[in-house]
Amino acid sequence: MVSDDRRRAELAANLQQVRERISRACVAAGRPAEAVTLTAVTKTYPASDVLLLAGLGVTDVGENKDQEAAGKAAQARAAGARLRWHFVGQLQRNKAKSVAAYADVVESVDSVRLVAALDRAAVAVRDEPLEVLVQVSLDGDPERGGVVGDDLWRVSDAVASSDGLRLGGVMAVAPLGQDPGDAFARLAELAGQLRSAQPSATTVSAGMSGDLEAAIRHGATHVRIGTSLLGMRNSLR
Ligand SMILES: *Cc1c(COP(=O)(O)O)cnc(C)c1O
Repeated sequence: MVSDDRRRAELAANLQQVRERISRACVAAGRPAEAVTLTAVTKTYPASDVLLLAGLGVTDVGENKDQEAAGKAAQARAAGARLRWHFVGQLQRNKAKSVAAYADVVESVDSVRLVAALDRAAVAVRDEPLEVLVQVSLDGDPERGGVVGDDLWRVSDAVASSDGLRLGGVMAVAPLGQDPGDAFARLAELAGQLRSAQPSATTVSAGMSGDLEAAIRHGATHVRIGTSLLGMRNSLR
């Protein structure tokens, strides 16, 4: 299909630019390029884009709504794409079972109650533990998602002592209207403290289209890129 070819070329060009930004940021930070994994955040874009990205070598995709993610994951699997699915949106406990069935990583875990729901779901529907990241609030506003203060330790202890979950590390979104570097420096500090208590918690998921360089400077192991790869989204979400 002509339109498919055009979209593939567009995604390939965007992907190359994003990969160059990541490798320049790694060089500047004195980190090896393999230290950072690109997660393509495909929310609002069709499964056909997920398949094109998979064909271009993308290994990890992120979604923020259960219904949309479940459908795309099923389509991608049916088409033979082997991808790691990251759930990055606010998650209601009644969706835990659905998400546990297709997600490889849930990045947005921010309460002990959600840990309990995901643990039960993972034990019921999976053969292997579900990886989770504790989402840290960097602006202190729990409305935007993420743990504040000592809840990081409460939630990560709950994950570590569960049967169905594996603690992978932390995730955060930079606060609006503040220097992302300062916020990511605080995240790095917390990630280091968590890693000394839980050595398996090595993932630091931080950095989006507008601030991936600052995130990589402060130790991000995963950057979550939507707009710079796929284009501007129509709706605010
Ligand atoms: C949408 C989204 C992203 C991607 O943001 P862009 O600015 O489009 O790169 C990353 N992380 C989360 C949690 C998101 O919801």
